[in-house]
Amino acid sequence: MTKAFVVGHPIAHSRSPLIHGHWLAEHGIAGTYARVDVAPDAFPDFLLTLREHGFAGGNVTIPHKEAASRLVDELTPRAEKIGAVNTVFFDTHGRLWGDNTDAPGFIAHLDRSLGADWVERMGGAALVLGAGGAARAIVVGLLERGLSRIRVANRTRARAEALVALDPERVAACDWADLPAALPGTGLLVNTTSLGMAGHGALDLDLTPLPATACVADIVYVPLETPLLAAARARGLAAVDGLGMLLHQAVPGFARWFGVHPAVTAALRERLVADIVGPKAGSKAGS
Ligand code: NAP
Repeated sequence: MTKAFVVGHPIAHSRSPLIHGHWLAEHGIAGTYARVDVAPDAFPDFLLTLREHGFAGGNVTIPHKEAASRLVDELTPRAEKIGAVNTVFFDTHGRLWGDNTDAPGFIAHLDRSLGADWVERMGGAALVLGAGGAARAIVVGLLERGLSRIRVANRTRARAEALVALDPERVAACDWADLPAALPGTGLLVNTTSLGMAGHGALDLDLTPLPATACVADIVYVPLETPLLAAARARGLAAVDGLGMLLHQAVPGFARWFGVHPAVTAALRERLVADIVGPKAGSKAGS
């Protein structure tokens, strides 16, 4: 029986058990995937005794992603660049590896939603709102995907400037107050702030200056249709929600722990949508 986990604090809200439970059942695998609530002071002991507790690996979420990157034996180059780990697994020598699958998860969802040529269609230019942990992963993903110009705007400008070091030739910081002027040259607008999330404030941004070919992506997925995505659709722009990123980031971990490469299917997405918005509203959720 292979055992995996998601560790965080708090963790009751995590939808990862729903995703991995779906795949375990789909593939008839006699494995488990459990939520584990571990406070920060107990996290090092938890991570360093995974083998003793019979775990093959697992997911790491808030607030442990940065701590995990310091505790594992090895980091993938991507996790090293991002400075945060969301997936851990053992290699054949028993060494604990940390990876970050948020970046490829976000890109996989864009590729699937927009088609393989979206980078060219959007002129290779992205504007990222926010500069927290998720923004760092997304900027790394956009760089890997080949975007030529990525501007980052954040309420606290210093955090946006810290992301410029990822690639000073292609990443630039932008003042939050200058957003209206930045929109006309934007092909892809990504919200990585917590604005728009249930219980948080709304993101107040007039999308009128965006080109008609632009796409708006939001990584917030509760609610599934954020006010930003609703405004993008109302303007006739392509809109990509945050649920796909959550689904696609889960794929590499499952493959590592359970040895099967799972698919992100419409049926899986419907299960998650039903859990977020309720079964009746599920069919309206969009991309
Ligand atoms: P984080 O590290 O705490 O960063 C939060 C970001 O939001 C910062 O840039 C912060 O700006 C900004 N922000 C917060 N309140 C704001 C306000 N009132 N006005 C303007 N900006 C504000 O969080 P995170 O881990 O990056 O996560 C951010 C969001 O992404 C969360 O909603 C999370 O649920 C979502 N997420 C989704 C996925 C997915 O799979 N779809 C994965 C990861 C995260 P300052 O720097 O100025 O504080």
